[in-house]
Amino acid sequence: MTTTIYQDIKESLRRLYLEDERPWLVGFSGGKDSTMLASLIFDMVLSISPDKRPKPISIVCTDTRVEIPAIVEMVEGTLEKMRKCSEEHGLGIDVNLLKPPSEQSFWVNIIGRGYPPPNRTFRWCTQRMKIDPVNVFVQQRVGHWGEAILHLGARRSESSTRAQTMAGIEARNGLRRHPDLPRVWVSNPIEFLSTEEVWAYLLQKLNPWGGDNRSLYRLYANASSGECPIQIDTSTPSCGSSRFGCWTCTVVDRDKASEGLLAAGDERMEKLIEFRETLLFYRDPANGKRDGRRMNGDEAPGPLTIAARRELLTRLLKLQEETGLNLISEDELFLIQQFWKTARKPDDGGRLGRIVSRQKGIVMSDWKEINQVRDLQEEVAAEKGVRADTLRRLLARVDEYSESHRAFGLPDDLLNILKDDLDHEAESKGNA
Ligand code: SF4
Repeated sequence: MTTTIYQDIKESLRRLYLEDERPWLVGFSGGKDSTMLASLIFDMVLSISPDKRPKPISIVCTDTRVEIPAIVEMVEGTLEKMRKCSEEHGLGIDVNLLKPPSEQSFWVNIIGRGYPPPNRTFRWCTQRMKIDPVNVFVQQRVGHWGEAILHLGARRSESSTRAQTMAGIEARNGLRRHPDLPRVWVSNPIEFLSTEEVWAYLLQKLNPWGGDNRSLYRLYANASSGECPIQIDTSTPSCGSSRFGCWTCTVVDRDKASEGLLAAGDERMEKLIEFRETLLFYRDPANGKRDGRRMNGDEAPGPLTIAARRELLTRLLKLQEETGLNLISEDELFLIQQFWKTARKPDDGGRLGRIVSRQKGIVMSDWKEINQVRDLQEEVAAEKGVRADTLRRLLARVDEYSESHRAFGLPDDLLNILKDDLDHEAESKGNA
């Protein structure tokens, strides 16, 4: 009976594959559902003779740069095997590991921009670190081909929210419109399978790219968890909820996956779990780590203070040293330096250099050059009647916008900085 279900799915995948030349994209997270999906697709393509394989297929996997180390290692190993298998058999399947750009990394947003660690109401991370990299990739592919089909391993039995979302979108020939990308069609081949059916398939069968799924099963058993599927919209609950997500995830109350891995002997998780607790502490406005005002001027808990960001960076670099894991890149450090210059109580960038030099024993930049620029800024600021700090914030904000090639929102941001300058002057006069 069950074998028939798997055969039926493969058969309908085969029909869809041979129907036209629209390229396929396959979401892969390394979890059980997407592993099963990729396995079905590899098998189906292998069953078709090489001269009748009409279309390119892209495996798409995201790495937020703050994924749990054991998961990263497993996923990278699997992707490499898939790549080799496709090359050896001429399957036309390319494998892509997508990461958010440094400007949108977890650390640049938290330590650079001062965003509070995410929670259920301000879950800024999923869009920036998971959805956007996939959308950019998909759009590039669609731009080339006109239309594409995106296969996902989502299942209705996985969560009631997901079941409702899937049931609520009308499907045509088994394909639904992508919520944000108009020329992309979404397919969920294993939509109606139960968890037991997924494991039965994975444990009875070797992967087409080699190896079995016992280590994947052990990882699930250790983390007593579910998978964080590839995300295409934010309507699904946090991917950190009882799933493999980021080790930094503060959206969930407890990170069961990290705790499970630690209990199973992955000692690296101990320090990472402690750091996650630190992030929770810094997020709570009661602990004095947040500005009393939002960026738009509202009287409500705002970004992390510059002092808090400095503390977090110091702790993060220490964690990096203690664990031997690569947690933050040079690129991210330079971007953080830029953001500190535009903060409400700005930092000249020298502080970051000192923190890095102290922690890593390397010199970050040519400070002499920076000092010359600072002198020039002081002169111009005096001439224009604004504070040098304000001028630096204005310049850094313009830099930031020009780097991302956009101007929308810039005038408001500049105005807010100037308002801050007036407030500051009024405060100083009041104190005097
Ligand atoms: S796992 Fe948590 S931190 Fe990572 S993207 Fe999902 S919600 Fe955000």
